[in-house]
Amino acid sequence: MDQVKKRNPGEDEFHQAVMEVLESLEPVIERHPEYKKAGILERIVEPERQIMFRVPWLDDKGNVKINRGFRVQFNSAIGPYKGGLRFHPSVYLGIIKFLGFEQVFKNSLPGLPIGGGKGGSDFDPKGKSDNEIMKFCQSFMTELYRHIGPDLDVPAGDIGVGAREIGYLFGQYKRISNSYRAGVLTGKGLNYGGSLARKEATGFGLVYFVREMLSAHNSSLKDKTIVISGAGNVAIYACQKAQEYGAKVIAMSDSKGYIYDKNGIKLDTVKQIKEVERKRINEYINHHPEAEYHEGQKEIWELKCDIALPCATQNDINEESANILINNGVIAIGEGANMPCTNEAIKTFLNNKILLAPAKAANAGGVATSALEMSQNSLRLSWSFEEVNKKLDNIMVNIFKTASDAAAKYGKSENYVAGANIAGFLKIADTMIAQGLV
Ligand code: NDP
Repeated sequence: MDQVKKRNPGEDEFHQAVMEVLESLEPVIERHPEYKKAGILERIVEPERQIMFRVPWLDDKGNVKINRGFRVQFNSAIGPYKGGLRFHPSVYLGIIKFLGFEQVFKNSLPGLPIGGGKGGSDFDPKGKSDNEIMKFCQSFMTELYRHIGPDLDVPAGDIGVGAREIGYLFGQYKRISNSYRAGVLTGKGLNYGGSLARKEATGFGLVYFVREMLSAHNSSLKDKTIVISGAGNVAIYACQKAQEYGAKVIAMSDSKGYIYDKNGIKLDTVKQIKEVERKRINEYINHHPEAEYHEGQKEIWELKCDIALPCATQNDINEESANILINNGVIAIGEGANMPCTNEAIKTFLNNKILLAPAKAANAGGVATSALEMSQNSLRLSWSFEEVNKKLDNIMVNIFKTASDAAAKYGKSENYVAGANIAGFLKIADTMIAQGLV
């Protein structure tokens, strides 16, 4: 850990992500001296390749704008690099590295042949016209295209990158590479190689995982009160599936504040506001005056609930919020976002025997379905919604079992955080040894 801090100064989120994994791996390293001998830990925290580039573009008024683009190709032991692109003003190398590092373990869990990577830009899509978004995406891809490919590195969406952005990125890739390689990006539109159920996959998968975790403790989602942070892709489809299972979602949020609807969130309204109009969540109260809107980011965790699903961004739940949730009787946390709980919050939940579904396992349904999209692209076939959804459900059931078994095997029963880290690590470590010092 000291080495990681020294070699990657100022990258707090990356340090945090590595710390969480290394702590979980202690019993594994003790039991497997061969990993130490092969320098697996030193190698696994060092990205195979890091790319940073200038992204110049012109806004609608003709002003020159410059952003920074990133692609971190972290680990290709088990397959081509795979991971999303994030467009958000907070993006810098430390965020992309934390996301890429987590992606390596996450992609190892579903048993699919994909390595780990992540990318993005400090570009802020908020308030930009369609034309500006397109020009930015085209400029971004003009550099990125030389580093990606269906057998090399396959980006997808993340915060600020949805179907519209993937469309513009794919269009530019196709044009400048002079080839139609659908498998170069996932999260594509259905007309050009996208998979049914990919849009829903991360949120649905999260709820399938939480269902399995509750079921292992003789509980279910039915009639549970749920609070969800975020109102983006993951949050919306987690809400939909939770409601289908009979849970009551009482709050959702965006980066400015949260809505509270004690009668249960009307998801159609949220979809209209966020997916169609691209407006702020506070618009909700114009449609449902009986609901409340409150400013602030952390305040949502003061609401009493049985299950909390943080689906917005990293470090959303700190130790203080964790304690408030516990005092209010929370029984389970499902991490939809990447690293939404600080390491102190995770320890607080685990010490209080709160069930915690860790992001690397619980939100892996998105990337797993991206891998299914790649399979369909290779086969030049499209599977039905039901078929993909069924595969996704099976994958989440297996991920839960894998994480649960690994935790038990290494003396950390019911600690799914450790279980996911250990199970993800073992496959990568064994593969890295098999492939020699590369
Ligand atoms: P979206 O861009 O669709 O939505 C992000 C949501 O989170 C928005 O409601 C946004 O509010 C809110 N948000 C973003 N930044 C902040 C912030 N700093 N503070 C508070 N709220 C914030 O992204 P996704 O739903 O795709 O991603 C959400 C999380 O899930 C991320 O951590 C992502 O890495 C993770 N994830 C996503 C996957 C996917 O398939 N999309 C797969 C696996 C993980 P606002 O609109 O105001 O910015």
